[in-house]
Amino acid sequence: MQYSSLPGHQGLKLKLSANVDSGRIPHAQLFCGADGYGPLPMAIAYAQYLFCEQREKGDSCGKCSSCQRVESYNHPDLHFSFPFKVVSKKKETSQAYFKEWQDQLTENQYFDIQDWNGKCDIGNSQPIIPASEAKSISAKLSLKSYEGGLKVLIVWRADLLNTQASNKLLKLIEEPPNGTVIILTTTDQDQLLKTIISRTQLVSVNRIPDEELTEFLVEKEGLDRGGARSIVNLAEGSYLRVKRQLRTSDNELKYFNHFQTWMRLCYQKKVLETFNWAETMAGEGREHQKQFLLFCLHMARQCMLGNYTDMQMVSLQGEERAFLLKFAKFINHNNVLQLTQEFDKAHYHIERNANPKILFTDLSIKVIRLLRK
Ligand SMILES: [Zn+2]
Repeated sequence: MQYSSLPGHQGLKLKLSANVDSGRIPHAQLFCGADGYGPLPMAIAYAQYLFCEQREKGDSCGKCSSCQRVESYNHPDLHFSFPFKVVSKKKETSQAYFKEWQDQLTENQYFDIQDWNGKCDIGNSQPIIPASEAKSISAKLSLKSYEGGLKVLIVWRADLLNTQASNKLLKLIEEPPNGTVIILTTTDQDQLLKTIISRTQLVSVNRIPDEELTEFLVEKEGLDRGGARSIVNLAEGSYLRVKRQLRTSDNELKYFNHFQTWMRLCYQKKVLETFNWAETMAGEGREHQKQFLLFCLHMARQCMLGNYTDMQMVSLQGEERAFLLKFAKFINHNNVLQLTQEFDKAHYHIERNANPKILFTDLSIKVIRLLRK
């Protein structure tokens, strides 16, 4: 990613590139700040600048082959290390999760540990960076670079290194192999060994000022100024929070479309098409399936509210409201209890790794039956 694709931090970007231009490249740096302020994307943009073959105006070009390989997370001299769930005490490394890592970065570089856990499907277990990972990093960096230039290592959430791994990393920072640039990122520098902090150059990635965030949303995301301001007001300088708000409204529309299609098919008893729909749903990620089922519960409640209050209490707007006006009568006191129980049960089972295709097929049959009650 080029610096220009990241919101805010103009001063910091200029300073980082000026240092590189004048040959001042510290061998170890600590990018510190909340995940939403973007220490990781900043580290990646910095690495891209280091590798770029045609830097221009303090930014990487985004076009040369080095830039393109960084942007697809496939540059042979750019190494990543990040926390993951340690399953056994065998020689485990982050390599086992590299595909998920690439996917996460491609989808969105602004994420936190909960997002990452969701991506790796590890629920609430605490991921760490174990000693086996630190050992593998040292081994990788001790090799010559593929391209003959620098080797860059980015460690995301260095505060999650365990003690053994921290000591190994410290050794690497104390005696770095030739041509190595190490960037640690953290949300909390107090969780790092003092000796690591004292040997790294601190780069503070601070909260993004509201004005810069608003400007970015208007220019890059095409939002109108009023809409951008109201989102930024709730974001506390975090682009991650901005993205979450944007995603929620996108997702809600998607869930509504799913719900509308599904209910129509079920009501018309189009069994075969319903099974195809179940297959489509099965292809969505587990997190989306869960959110969709919560959305179904919400819609069922809105239908009941609509029936009892003549639509006055219904909080929906636009297309959703129009659909509900026609559909609410099919969800009534004869079936609402069972329907909500079924949505609830399905949510419970999806959370516990039930097979989504079987689950949504089975649920569809129940809904077909219940809608006719
Ligand atoms: Zn380039």
